[in-house]
Amino acid sequence: MNKKILVTGGAGFIGSHLCEELLKDGNEVVCVDNYFTGSKKNVFHLMDNKNFELIRHDIVYTLLLEVDEVYNMACPASPVHYQFNPIKTIKTSVLGAINMLGLAKRVKAKILQASTSEVYGDPAIHPQPESYWGNVNPIGIRSCYDEGKRCAETLFFDYHRQHKLKIKVIRIFNTYGPKMNPNDRRVVSNFIVQALKGEDITVYGKGDQTRSFCYVDDLVSGIIKMMNSKDQFVGPVNLGNPGEFTILELAKKIIEMTGSKSKIVYNELPSDDPKQRKPIIDLAKKELDWEPKIKLEDGLKKTIEYFDKLLRV
Ligand code: NAD
Ligand code: UDP
Repeated sequence: MNKKILVTGGAGFIGSHLCEELLKDGNEVVCVDNYFTGSKKNVFHLMDNKNFELIRHDIVYTLLLEVDEVYNMACPASPVHYQFNPIKTIKTSVLGAINMLGLAKRVKAKILQASTSEVYGDPAIHPQPESYWGNVNPIGIRSCYDEGKRCAETLFFDYHRQHKLKIKVIRIFNTYGPKMNPNDRRVVSNFIVQALKGEDITVYGKGDQTRSFCYVDDLVSGIIKMMNSKDQFVGPVNLGNPGEFTILELAKKIIEMTGSKSKIVYNELPSDDPKQRKPIIDLAKKELDWEPKIKLEDGLKKTIEYFDKLLRV
């Protein structure tokens, strides 16, 4: 039976890919977004679909809707954007979670929370399993995002224990692909845009910090598998690609793949920037039969093509 599904943050990077996939499966999708970092352009091609509905709404305020499932994706994810108005970022994570959990409770919907590898902070354990409690600075410039997401996880588990709500919590590791905001200064989109424009590639610090990059199609298939998994499996579950690269390696790879003449410059490392990040995904493999399939080079190729086209318009 087809479901009626709410996707908050549905006009954002991951949310818009998710709306597309859920519609392909024949579901009715209600996309809610305040367009802070997302854009109507990301979902414009879905507007003619009779199963798609777009609502401008800020999840910091209550919302009354009848749905079967909620994917709570709304929250700026780029450090530049979530630090722009840190108090609003916490409100989106915490009040947004309370409002969406309240909605799910009222209509007995199943609800999934897009949490993050940032709950591990600057991890002292490497690679990171879900059992690791993290190393987060509660008062730093990244805390509005990290602690907001940690509190949202707490709320999800308390609604599950106290009200028997059907919850699903995923911890997303760095994800990239087409429809990333070209101005959000996350590392993959920023380096590609800089390389295509022939501008300096801005490596922060020495570039020896690591990240693991997952292509968006892989991630979205994991998100949907998690929502459809058995009710007893609530997570948290890591979703990411365990391939680990230094930021300098990424910069060189992007220069090579774009054939750019850009030079690498070294800028100051922002405070609390995690030194390393790589998911252990054994739980996702076992419970969801999921693992990423798209190699970094292949994903970068598609992402470069997307930005190349975008910058030519
Ligand atoms: P994004 O910034 O492209 O998308 C977020 C969307 O949420 C945007 O469309 C934005 O306008 C919307 N939004 C923000 N605040 C809102 C509010 N108060 N009310 C309604 N809409 C609001 O980011 P993304 O990369 O697509 O991330 C989606 C989710 O996944 C976020 O919750 C993020 O924390 C999580 N996540 C992403 C990554 C990643 O690497 N992309 C990693 C970890 C976690
Ligand atoms: N980074 C960089 N240059 C940039 C943007 C980011 O060197 O132009 C680094 C950043 O310091 C971090 C990593 O790339 O170590 C990933 O940054 P991003 O903002 O994409 O996400 P994060 O994983 O830090 O949330």
